[in-house]
Amino acid sequence: MRYARGVRVVPVYFDPVVLRHDPGPYHPETAHRLQVVVETFRQDGRRVEAPPAPERTLKAVERVHDPAYVQRLAALCRHAPADFEGPFALFDCPDNPISAGTFEASLRAVSLTLAATDTVVAGRAASVFVAARPPGHHAFASRAMGYCFLNTIAIAAKDLIEHHGVSRVLVADFDVHHGNGTQQLFWEDGRVAYLSVHRYPFYPGTGAADEEGVGRGRGATKNVPLPAGAGDAKYAGGFAVALETLSERFRPEVVLVSAGFDAHASDPIGGMRVTTEGFAWMTRALEDVAEAFAGGRIVSLLEGGYHPEAMAASAAEHVRVLARTGGLM
Ligand SMILES: [Zn+2]
Repeated sequence: MRYARGVRVVPVYFDPVVLRHDPGPYHPETAHRLQVVVETFRQDGRRVEAPPAPERTLKAVERVHDPAYVQRLAALCRHAPADFEGPFALFDCPDNPISAGTFEASLRAVSLTLAATDTVVAGRAASVFVAARPPGHHAFASRAMGYCFLNTIAIAAKDLIEHHGVSRVLVADFDVHHGNGTQQLFWEDGRVAYLSVHRYPFYPGTGAADEEGVGRGRGATKNVPLPAGAGDAKYAGGFAVALETLSERFRPEVVLVSAGFDAHASDPIGGMRVTTEGFAWMTRALEDVAEAFAGGRIVSLLEGGYHPEAMAASAAEHVRVLARTGGLM
């Protein structure tokens, strides 16, 4: 064992405001899924907190998204039909119904994540898990897609660079879907590395192994496409090797995680066979990299996951691993 084994506090950031996005009863990305996750964390004895939104939140959003796009979403939600519950319009694509609370929920997901990065940068906790929705990794600078409106993880990565002065941020994404929005936003950047393990070919169609960035960003994008039905062995192997190789070259100062649990064997959408233990294994690999390069600093953000109980059990295990000190157990 490399380090003394122990337990540290990993706060969970959550605010009921994120439940106000309501895409309707037939949509998989429900408020209920997050309520199950948060309840599981509470039963696990986790500290669940709602830190105040950093004042710079909107400014941070507009470093990634076109301000006209942000205004379009905000104004549409503000003018939702009075006394109307649930979705009242589709935004940019059929997967993205919006309700009166969509913009405030999306913005709160961002502010919770910025607060989490503030916490780890200040050293008040080594890692924080952000239990928020809607997810973000499919969102582009001026287009919503795949249940996502604001690309929360990308906003946090850019804010770490522009606001906190961090030089290199790694975004690791184990959601079953490729984070096409995140990849696109940092394609030519070089200061934010993006690693994704995902089912391929699959929605949204991108994420082939030869997609690796251009210009200064060349080599900072790493995709690990896996066939349908892949389980723990393929996932853990592909993810760990790519994570280690990319991190040794890139030397991230902070690790951000797009933690989607829709690769779980019980998920109705993902078509993969990852178990709770598989997510724990990937989390240990992330911990090892964070300990080696980033002073242990990890902010992990919930993305997809559509079997509430399987997702909650996996997220709880993910945070249990983050809370243990010592990379080898
Ligand atoms: Zn997903």
